[in-house]
Amino acid sequence: MAALGMVTFFVSTIRMFSLKLARQEVSQALWHIRSGPSFFNRHPFDFVRDIEYDEPESSTINHGRFHTMTGYGQTNQMTPSDVDLFATLTNLCARFDLDYGVLHTYTLDSMGHRFFHDCQEMDHACAVMDEMLAPFNQRWRAMGYEIIVTADHGQDTRGHHGGRDPLQQEAALYYFGEASGPPKETVIDQLQLAPTILSRLGAKIPETMQAKPFLR
Ligand SMILES: [Zn+2]
Repeated sequence: MAALGMVTFFVSTIRMFSLKLARQEVSQALWHIRSGPSFFNRHPFDFVRDIEYDEPESSTINHGRFHTMTGYGQTNQMTPSDVDLFATLTNLCARFDLDYGVLHTYTLDSMGHRFFHDCQEMDHACAVMDEMLAPFNQRWRAMGYEIIVTADHGQDTRGHHGGRDPLQQEAALYYFGEASGPPKETVIDQLQLAPTILSRLGAKIPETMQAKPFLR
């Protein structure tokens, strides 16, 4: 089993992207927890209508699965098990032969807000995440996907993010696939992520995306 070492202690919210190459039309799946409306096909989010949908004709999300985390708080964090999220992604990949999937889990973000990062609870949460993800990572690679694991922000020693502190801003990125990337310590701009994914899919990169792909 691969030791992914998937998060460092300053990484909180994890995003995972799976992509399959060389398709003209890119079908995608997404499921997200406690997200803003930008991740949905419609707004406002309707619990019954939007909790799960399959819309193959949509130009945005074709297969959406969501968990709202309604009622989230320090004591009751309302997060589903990550193994369930990984299983849902795998299920959709197999059923719909997805070209692109994005999974967004809030487990480590929520844990980081509650316990902060330099503690046994977070050591354990990261180890559990690592252990749950490793076999899926191998399975997705065997299904023909490339995988990016990263976070959309860091988290400081008091559990905060959204500010300018490097601990709040910096996140690790792991890539599993055939392409080669820059040396390990290179700082990648977040703006490079979207054009990189499009380039790996063989899809057209819009002119408005001016940052350069970091995988070749
Ligand atoms: Zn947060």
